[in-house]
Amino acid sequence: MVLEVVKYGDPVLRKKGAKIETITPEITQFIADMFETMKSARGVGLAAHQVARAVQLAVIDVRGMRDRPSLLWIQGQAADSDSFMPLVLINPAVTPLGPRVSGPEGCLSFPEIYGEVERQAEVEVTALNERGESYAFKAGGLLARAVQHEVDHLNGILFIDRMDSETRAEVKDEVELLLAETKARIALR
Ligand code: ZN
Repeated sequence: MVLEVVKYGDPVLRKKGAKIETITPEITQFIADMFETMKSARGVGLAAHQVARAVQLAVIDVRGMRDRPSLLWIQGQAADSDSFMPLVLINPAVTPLGPRVSGPEGCLSFPEIYGEVERQAEVEVTALNERGESYAFKAGGLLARAVQHEVDHLNGILFIDRMDSETRAEVKDEVELLLAETKARIALR
């Protein structure tokens, strides 16, 4: 089932996600719904918060992003990121590595709003998969950026928080308009 993606201004986006203790059949269905929602919105990542549920769960799929390559290492060995997709990140922990790099970002909760965001070039990630099994990998390129963006969501942090003041000023009007629209929509519920 395709779920509704909440927009900036919805208070759920600012909540700290609760840890998932057990992979219940309901969570399994929720993960399937998140993948369906991400595909339908043509996103490369989606956090549970964006479908109005503040839990530590995000999905990522960077396949097909030929102009923005991803790098992947598993147990220190370079691996093919496409065959590692799609990813389910439950209760993820991220260790920052490498220099910080600037790159363009968007967010399904901020339609049509894009800006440069500085992130770590590489990250070490540990998480549980959809079966509740622990796994680890190191990511670079677009995958590293996507992981950091989604893990931020799980902690109530949004990409506009990570923009420098110049970029933030560039998107200010659009962000304020979106905020007003979301507040108006919430008032009508
Ligand atoms: Zn986002």
